[in-house]
Formats: sequence, C-alpha cells, structure tokens
Amino acid sequence: MIINQEKCHGCALCVPYCVTNAITIVNKKAIIDRELCVECSVCMQVDVCKNHAFEEDELEWPRSIRRTYSNVMSKHPQTGMTGRGTPEMKTNELTGKYKRGEVGLGVELGRPDVCTTFRDVEKVAKMLAASGFTFDHEAPTTMIMTDPTVGSLPPEILNERVICVILEGKAPTEKLPVLLEGLKKVSKEIDTVFSLDVITVEEEDGSVPNIEIARRLGYPVRPNAKTTVGLGRPA
Ligand code: SF4
Ligand code: SF4
Repeated sequence: MIINQEKCHGCALCVPYCVTNAITIVNKKAIIDRELCVECSVCMQVDVCKNHAFEEDELEWPRSIRRTYSNVMSKHPQTGMTGRGTPEMKTNELTGKYKRGEVGLGVELGRPDVCTTFRDVEKVAKMLAASGFTFDHEAPTTMIMTDPTVGSLPPEILNERVICVILEGKAPTEKLPVLLEGLKKVSKEIDTVFSLDVITVEEEDGSVPNIEIARRLGYPVRPNAKTTVGLGRPA
C-alpha cells in the first residue's frame, strides 16, 4: 500500500484504521512503515480518506504473499478462493475427512495487530510434522510448502508478515498428547499467538476422548458442534 503524498494533507483520520499501526504522520503527511504493513488494504477499503490518497501498488513475489494472507478479498493463487482454510474442517459430517481414531488440528497463527511471520509459521509446522502430523494437501498453506512431510516453507517468504495463517491436517489419535505438548513448547519460541481447533468424531457411545486428553494437558476446551442442514448427503 502506498499513500500518494501529493493528495495527503495530513489530517490523520486514517491512522486508527491501520490494523498494524503502520501509518504515522511525519511532517504533516501520512506515511506507511513498509515493514509493518501487511497489505491488507483495510485503510483503503474503509474509505476514510476524502482525498483518495491510498493506492494499491503492484506487489512482486515474495511481498505479494502479504496481500494473499491479509486481504480477505484476495484470492489465494493456489486455490483460486478467498479462504485461508478448507471447508472440510467445518463440514466433516458431509465430507468424512476426519475419522474415528484420528484427530484433526487447525492451528491459526496471528491476529490483527499481532500478525505473524512465516518464520514462526514454519517453526510450528516443523514441530507438527516431526510429531507425526500429516498436512492436508488441499489446505492453502500446505500448497505453498516446499516439503509438507517436514513442514518447510520457501526461504524467501520467511520474513514476510501477514495477519493470519492456518495450518491444517490430521494425525492418529494416539499422537494428540505429543502434538499438544509440542504446541505448548513451540508457543514459547514464537513471536505471535495462535488458536487451536481440534476436530474430532465422537465415539459410538457419544464420548469424546480427545477432550479429556486436552484437558489433562491443561488446555481449556470449549466444545462446538455444528449441524449442517440441506447441503448434501452425510458421509
Ligand atoms: S486520511 Fe488521507 S489525507 Fe488524511 S492523513 Fe490519511 S492519507 Fe492523508
Ligand atoms: S494495507 Fe493494512 S497494514 Fe498496510 S497501511 Fe493499510 S491498513 Fe495498515
């Protein structure tokens, strides 16, 4: 994102709208800290600048990945869709992607303001891969990995900052304790936050053993169930 300096008159109305505090007023003109900017285009979309000083510039690789993962209107080049995760995470009753004896995990790194670098994403991805996790080959972030079996990402994107990245996949249920312990450990080595989705299929008697495993390891659990009506045939 750039601010046309000839159009800006330094009113500062745009400053509070930046999700990463990248806009400041210097010498009565708004400027953008290029390192902090994640190319989300919120400053332009809120349309607060009456002078229309915000302009989206052409982004080259690897900087272009900031827009891909931060601008909700931007389509992911690998999937051609705007989402950063797969619909299967939320519609397992239709797709049956996650089965009994397996546990699905979605690790959502970053938030507005905090953001994340791909260096931190790779640290988490490598820990997961080393702990018996298989990345979902249909997930957008798996598609940009150089080697999904080890969780590595292209080296040139590691310093790029974005609002949010989702890692998705699954593992045999018996791997859940080591995965949860690994996430606790790696959370101290990264400079961002993440939330954790655990996708699990209840047993025939209605019990959900993964909830007890997570609680035992000190994770606060907030179970959510979703009923999808009229969208297809249950798997
Ligand atoms: S709202 Fe427009 S004119 Fe005002 S400081 Fe921001 S860019 Fe400049
Ligand atoms: S594109 Fe996003 S991060 Fe960059 S200046 Fe605008 S609001 Fe801030």
